[in-house]
Amino acid sequence: MKPQTHLTVSTLLAALFYPLIGWNALWVFMTGFLVDLDHFIYYYAIKRDLSIKGFFEFFGPENQEFHQGCMCIFHSFEILVIFIVASFFSMVIFAATASLAIHYLMDYIYEKGISGEGYVKSMSHIAYAKRKRMKQNQKK
Ligand SMILES: [Zn+2]
Repeated sequence: MKPQTHLTVSTLLAALFYPLIGWNALWVFMTGFLVDLDHFIYYYAIKRDLSIKGFFEFFGPENQEFHQGCMCIFHSFEILVIFIVASFFSMVIFAATASLAIHYLMDYIYEKGISGEGYVKSMSHIAYAKRKRMKQNQKK
């Protein structure tokens, strides 16, 4: 998903929650938009480069096959479950959880459009770790 789309949707969602939670709506914005910072972590881990141009080329639609099954640390259903449980205790966390869930949904729609199958990246730390272990065992 393009950052501009996440920026727009997160801003609108924060504006929607502002009357309910005031300036805490900034958490809604940050959860929906800044969650993609993990892509920079992944990019740096693979390329050892901090170029913005290189980053956007790396994540372009033509490279999606390369990213099949990759793990971006903030994109996982385990994190969403933690947010959902915590949202029972705080309206601010509930709003942030809604923002995170919408972010994941938008990523799903975008990546399904590219791959035709669903998420390109891995959306579970547990499944990613299991796959990685299976690959290591196959090499032995
Ligand atoms: Zn994302």
